[in-house]
Amino acid sequence: MSFTLFADTRLTLARDSLAGLSVGDALGSQFFVPGRQPADLAAGRLPPPPWEWTDDTEMACSVVAELSDAGHIDQDRLALAFAERCEPYRGYGPGAVTVLRLIRTGTPWPVAAASAFDGQGSLGNGAAMRVAPLGAYFADSPSRAAAEARASAEVTHAHAEGIAGAVAVAVAAAFAARGRLDGHRPAADRLLAGVAAAVDPATEVHRRVRLAADLLGRPLPQAVAALGNGSRVTAQDTVGFTLWVAASRLDDYPAAIRACVEAGGDVDTTAAIVGGIVAAYAGVGTPGGVPQRWLATREPLPQWLS
Ligand SMILES: [Mg+2]
Repeated sequence: MSFTLFADTRLTLARDSLAGLSVGDALGSQFFVPGRQPADLAAGRLPPPPWEWTDDTEMACSVVAELSDAGHIDQDRLALAFAERCEPYRGYGPGAVTVLRLIRTGTPWPVAAASAFDGQGSLGNGAAMRVAPLGAYFADSPSRAAAEARASAEVTHAHAEGIAGAVAVAVAAAFAARGRLDGHRPAADRLLAGVAAAVDPATEVHRRVRLAADLLGRPLPQAVAALGNGSRVTAQDTVGFTLWVAASRLDDYPAAIRACVEAGGDVDTTAAIVGGIVAAYAGVGTPGGVPQRWLATREPLPQWLS
């Protein structure tokens, strides 16, 4: 790819992706409130404000802040930012809280990340849930997006599946943002093929991305049955499904988020991933983009993200 992206264009793409990620996270988490039904959203009835964002958004804001400051991922700085900004009540999993507490109290991140889950390292979906804006930032280079995504994942997720999940989501967001710059919607099958080519072929995440491509055009329940919906909170159970949704609804943010809500499972995280990818292509306040009304209903992003 032979063009130069200026820093302000990169940041605009990343911030639009972050808007889509945070609205998806905040709206998705509303469906854990008892009595909330996916049918309400399908009928256009939105949950009452405010929609509070969760760990997905808090960590994604640190990724964007790091890119804004440095233009790349500095692992030591990112690990410390995650650790110092972690508000545990935002829905962090117990494994994440433990790793971030270790980092905050002085354990080097490679040691902390490797210690998770009895020394296997985390294969959770936490590195994937925060990374879409990074992919949008590197819209000019999917390979750079993959390398930076790996770096961003490693500070908390030492397991190959956790890392593969982040690489897959970032590369998808890079293709989406590239399509926006080019003025062409990427074809769903080509987008998924491009993602699969960037992901470690030894992983289950890779297998499910390829399976997602085979399932394009099929009904939502069939995709959920084959790919998962994040209910196991692993990268394997989350990323293939989210890429299936995003690739097939890239020009319709509300429809993409509704699909996540209807699928159930780890809805704040699936909607965060899907929202981050789709908004990288469709934008904010545009036809098919993040609706302004939804954005206005989301709790404001943290003040430290200037
Ligand atoms: Mg969450």
